Amino acid sequence: MTHNPDPYLPPPRFQWPDGKRCAVMICFDVDGETTALSEDPALATRMTTMSQCEYGPTIGVPRLLGLIDYLDVPATFFIPSYIAQHHPRMTQAIVSSGHEIGAHGHLHEKLNTLTPAEEKAILEKSLGILEEVSGTTIEGFRAPWFEINPGTPDLLVEHNLLYNASMMSDDVPFQHPNGLVEIPGQWLLEDWEQFAFNADPAWGFIPEDCDKVFQLWWQEFMAMRDFGCCFVLTLHPWLSGRPSRVRLLERLIREIQATGDAWFCRGKELAQWVREHPDYRREINFDVLPS
Ligand SMILES: [Zn+2]
Repeated sequence: MTHNPDPYLPPPRFQWPDGKRCAVMICFDVDGETTALSEDPALATRMTTMSQCEYGPTIGVPRLLGLIDYLDVPATFFIPSYIAQHHPRMTQAIVSSGHEIGAHGHLHEKLNTLTPAEEKAILEKSLGILEEVSGTTIEGFRAPWFEINPGTPDLLVEHNLLYNASMMSDDVPFQHPNGLVEIPGQWLLEDWEQFAFNADPAWGFIPEDCDKVFQLWWQEFMAMRDFGCCFVLTLHPWLSGRPSRVRLLERLIREIQATGDAWFCRGKELAQWVREHPDYRREINFDVLPS
């Protein structure tokens, strides 16, 4: 076999609008105080731990909103309904800037700890609160900790949701048998693993250097662009709303924009595109390997 100096470039996994090479969905999971409260309600009296979580909705979100509005990038904010209830002005500011609100539990409950009846009740409660506070129709769901149950896709369709953004089995969207669009993510494109730290309770790791994180995410974007994938970046405002990380996001978005190859979209536009163009998806399996 002769050595081929060119990189391996299979056909794009999906045909994106306007001939773009890559879809880019910027997600903010605004967990705020539920980061602590969903772990242990007794943490409510741990004022410093709670204040670190509260930094997300109160300082991180307005700062990040300012950045993405300045860069003219649409985003999707998955918000536990407890947070929307306690930060209504934040929720309304997100909507009035043209971004999308998606469901993310009430108190950021782990779905695998719930009975089907409990999961249904929490979904209904969260949708009711989010729609009332935001004045929008909720079309998307991101499971807390990304973890869903076997019955979750049917539950989401029964409640008229268009898409789920919780699984990790692909790098372009697909449709569940019931028609629900899945927008898969991955831990590589998450800020928790890079930046989270709390002493007690012990969360996260040693916070990473932003230059290292830029390289990590930029390299994944550039390769996803080559492969025609969907770049789903998941950020938590209590982590990524800190000043040097806002600069990191600014740098990343500007570099992606400069390629001219990225379709920046909210979850609902992405899901609608997938639903309207299922044949634009290029399958990867043993049956379609070139012979
Ligand atoms: Zn979350």
